Amino acid sequence: MTGLEQRLRAVRARIEAAARAAGRDPATVALLAVSKTWPAADVRALAALGQADFGENRAQELIGKAGELADLPLRWHFIGQLQRNKAAAVARLGAVVHSVDRTPLAQALSRAGEAAQRPVDVLLQVDLGGPEGELGGRGGAAPADVPGLADDVAVLPGIRLRGLMAVAPRGEEPGPAFARLAELAARVRVDHPEAVELSAGMSGDLEEAVAAGATIVRVGTALFGSRPLISPQDTRVTPVPGASGAPE
Ligand SMILES: *Cc1c(COP(=O)(O)O)cnc(C)c1O
Repeated sequence: MTGLEQRLRAVRARIEAAARAAGRDPATVALLAVSKTWPAADVRALAALGQADFGENRAQELIGKAGELADLPLRWHFIGQLQRNKAAAVARLGAVVHSVDRTPLAQALSRAGEAAQRPVDVLLQVDLGGPEGELGGRGGAAPADVPGLADDVAVLPGIRLRGLMAVAPRGEEPGPAFARLAELAARVRVDHPEAVELSAGMSGDLEEAVAAGATIVRVGTALFGSRPLISPQDTRVTPVPGASGAPE
């Protein structure tokens, strides 16, 4: 078994255990493999193990990898800050956009979805704030603005509101922050019952996110390791000090 396969099994086992601990069916939690900084060959290796959903946080990198892997039936997700001028390219790839945090971006994606004749599935990114209640600066709309943003998005013809997304704030326990996110998601669903997805949890806090109701966990490091793989036979690669996640 390759290191990649071992790590995929370990992550799936963590998701399953977290779901069972929360009294949830593990099948209700999807694994999104965050392949940012990793070469297309690693995505291909993980796809060969049955992983179909991959996330990227830079449009240029997403476009490049999606092109290289166009022969595979992958579902791409965009999880970073998106410039409006990249909306069309992301829409053409059929990517789910997890990071809609303002109405002009939603409008650009809607126009792109209409032009591509393929509605863009979007999640609204919520800024869960810093330890003192200020905005955390990791992207996302302020919680108070999210219901209004949801109303704006819901009437746009080229996009479909699918749910909410957030990154846990730094310097705070993730559990209570994810609970605030889940509460906000429940409020949004009163008027927008189709917004069922909750994208939350990463390598370090997926258990807390699943406990709070996450339906999508976004995992990079725990799957791919702390530096790019050269091949699926990555067990021979020795870690480079300080090179966490950065490509060389
Ligand atoms: C990089 C990234 C992840 C994955 O983080 P890991 O800690 O490597 O699992 C998840 N979500 C977003 C928005 C990211 O940018």
